[in-house]
Amino acid sequence: MRNRLPKVAVISLLLLSGIAALGVGGCGGDDQAGTDELGTVYSLDPPELAKHATPGFTSGVPVLAYHYFRAGFDAGYLAKVLGSVLFGMPALGPREFWTTPAGEFEKHLRYFRDNDIQVMTLDEVADLVAARQPLPDNAVVLTIDDADESVYEQAWPLLRKYGLRAHLFVPTGHVASRWSDLDVCSWEQLREMSASGNIIVGSHTRDMHFKVRTPRGLEPVFWNPDLMSTEMRSRNLNDLVRYRRQVPAIPVTDDADAALTGTWAPVVADLLDSRYDLAAELTQPPMWLAWPYGFAVAELDSLARVAGFRGTVSLAPASFAATDTTMAPGRYTITAKTTLDMIREVRPPRWPAAAPTGGAVAARQTHKTRSSATSPAAAARPAR
Ligand SMILES: [Zn+2]
Repeated sequence: MRNRLPKVAVISLLLLSGIAALGVGGCGGDDQAGTDELGTVYSLDPPELAKHATPGFTSGVPVLAYHYFRAGFDAGYLAKVLGSVLFGMPALGPREFWTTPAGEFEKHLRYFRDNDIQVMTLDEVADLVAARQPLPDNAVVLTIDDADESVYEQAWPLLRKYGLRAHLFVPTGHVASRWSDLDVCSWEQLREMSASGNIIVGSHTRDMHFKVRTPRGLEPVFWNPDLMSTEMRSRNLNDLVRYRRQVPAIPVTDDADAALTGTWAPVVADLLDSRYDLAAELTQPPMWLAWPYGFAVAELDSLARVAGFRGTVSLAPASFAATDTTMAPGRYTITAKTTLDMIREVRPPRWPAAAPTGGAVAARQTHKTRSSATSPAAAARPAR
């Protein structure tokens, strides 16, 4: 054991220098990365998304967006890093970039617990907003995208250990399959996590987690329903008819029927499909939707409500504020580079309850002034 320690230290150094040398956070928007032969791209969130997501304090309740987890020591991960440094193999992909070590995740949870930071759900925040109640200044919401098995193996046990809840956004068409370098959880695992109460399952669409080439560049497929394959469009609409028969418990409203005849019909059909998938497999229909890549266009956010969702979440780096609706409040993305200090910046330790010093008050006001310049609504529209 003792003589293995230096080796671990060397590997750690190489790992760190490898990550630095590769500039993991700064993938220069290279469209080649993640492209497959079919011309569809980035099934996972691309690393450059994190450029929009440098944590910084805004007033409201911060919503954190995690993706994948790994155990403290992961031989495959180390081999990839070393391979890319020593042998010029391809750089870390989105899978590694969006991975949080379980030990780091536990540090975050322990930090929230030790500082009396309340871990809320999206519904709890939305209820306060709807009731025009003030939002707590010592709260946070946890969310996890893509439903990789590492959530079941690494994150969920920690959430149970600390008695905390997180939302999990599932691409329902990929459940129990190998998809984009991920092993997506099975329905069994999702049922088990959902039943525990520590995981609140939401939708990540059914089958719209990819980008398509447009004259403006790569864009999420749901911005461009006209570029969906005929097969996909007819499959969605046919599936909808089938699910209506199978799961009559969730009626489709007249509004949804109307939405199913317009431009966005295939997108709305996919959203309804994902709701039916989850309602059929779990006890609760999903109430929240996380759009892949973080954003929808405004029409689609409204149609998500028609499809039965209470709200959607975006990846604009802003807190869920008292002035927000349930349409596209922001989230802060957590990556392999996120440190505990960055978490502290997003949710600072609580201010002393009694007689704060003038300095603390001034600092707090500065934060508020800065945050008012960042409107989640304005930030929620990515530059095309
Ligand atoms: Zn995703």
